[in-house]
Amino acid sequence: MLVNLLEFDLEHLSEYCESLGEKRFRATQLFRWIHQRGAKSFDQMTDLAKSLRLLLESNCTITPLKVLSRQNSKDGTIKWLFDVGGGDAIETVFIPEYDRGTLCVSSQAGCAVGCVFCSTGHQGFSRNLTTAEIISQLWFVEHTLREEFARQDRIISNVVMMGMGEPLQNYSALIPSLKTMLSDHGYGISRRRLTVSTSGVVPMIERLGQDAPVALAVSLHAPNDALRDRLVPLNKKYPLSELRIACESYLAVAPRDFITFEYCMLDGVNDTLLHAQEILDWLRPPPFSQLRALPAKVNLIPFNPFPASGLKCSPPETVKEFAQLLLNAGIVTTVRKTRGDDIDAACGQLAGEVLDRTDVSTRMSKQKVIPLTPVNLSRLPVGTTD
Ligand code: SAH
Ligand code: SF4
Repeated sequence: MLVNLLEFDLEHLSEYCESLGEKRFRATQLFRWIHQRGAKSFDQMTDLAKSLRLLLESNCTITPLKVLSRQNSKDGTIKWLFDVGGGDAIETVFIPEYDRGTLCVSSQAGCAVGCVFCSTGHQGFSRNLTTAEIISQLWFVEHTLREEFARQDRIISNVVMMGMGEPLQNYSALIPSLKTMLSDHGYGISRRRLTVSTSGVVPMIERLGQDAPVALAVSLHAPNDALRDRLVPLNKKYPLSELRIACESYLAVAPRDFITFEYCMLDGVNDTLLHAQEILDWLRPPPFSQLRALPAKVNLIPFNPFPASGLKCSPPETVKEFAQLLLNAGIVTTVRKTRGDDIDAACGQLAGEVLDRTDVSTRMSKQKVIPLTPVNLSRLPVGTTD
């Protein structure tokens, strides 16, 4: 069987080149062709010896995911739906801003955590994505947009692992993907601009700190165990006290000196001032507890509704008062702007639109396939580095 080279980070590609009887440094050239120049075939790689190109051609491929559809939002956000086989699809969202281009990447088809407010969670778990499937999302979007806008420089400056799935429950495929994103020979994304978002897989937070210490966002959503057990079922396994310890340890290796906590505002569920006060107490326990304050930024996410959830978003006034209480206490607090909601690309709306996972033809026929049209050029981000 042919080996898909999108599966390898640079270290693995070097080992692979060695196994073919080639020098390890050839891997760097090959890696740059694939990730920096978006090469799809070995013919293009003119600075590699013809014999090596032939060898590669008979052993490997560069095979990205197949696009099922693309939707352009009026705010410049673009969402792609990719086929991952077996009746599953995953979504990837590009969010342009004036000083950056952010890609929201999926790590699993579905998700096993089952948070009650999340559309992916409602869909259930199908399978882990491979490294090739994770990195393929970045490879495809970066090179497609570069070609569309005739740009040589980087389009995607930030990556957030906030698409479908729980990245820390797909650890072995996640780490080589992060390494490829970070590599100067790959996408050169800075550690501060690469964020892993997790619902709180405590042991893996610690391992992430050792293997690829990137920016960490923790999906909090509730300030006490009783409520968090209901909203984020993983809390029953890893309660808030353990999550707090993991966050504290992570700070020692994190590229930023705070952890971001995400908090989805659900009307009448987790949005009272008492809840805001509880967050404060969790972040800054009283002196007699002997716990240190946890340096944190809180990101309030207005809940993006979907019918099966039976939940509503908190009214804007409630969100404002909630934020104000935290701000008054000196906690940096932001309210996330919703992007791409006209194309269901906002947080928690990513469900891959899989209607019947057992029947590909049913799902395919129900996909709304949008023709590939370029987005408004003026919305293009500047490919900044940190
Ligand atoms: N599984 C990871 C990453 C993917 S979810 C995690 O849970 O962190 C990315 C973010 O979107 C999380 O903070 C998640 O809680 C939030 N989210 C999920 N569903 C949402 C919804 N319906 N409205 C708003 N935010 C949502
Ligand atoms: Fe999974 Fe994250 Fe959705 Fe929870 S919020 S179900 S962990 S994708």
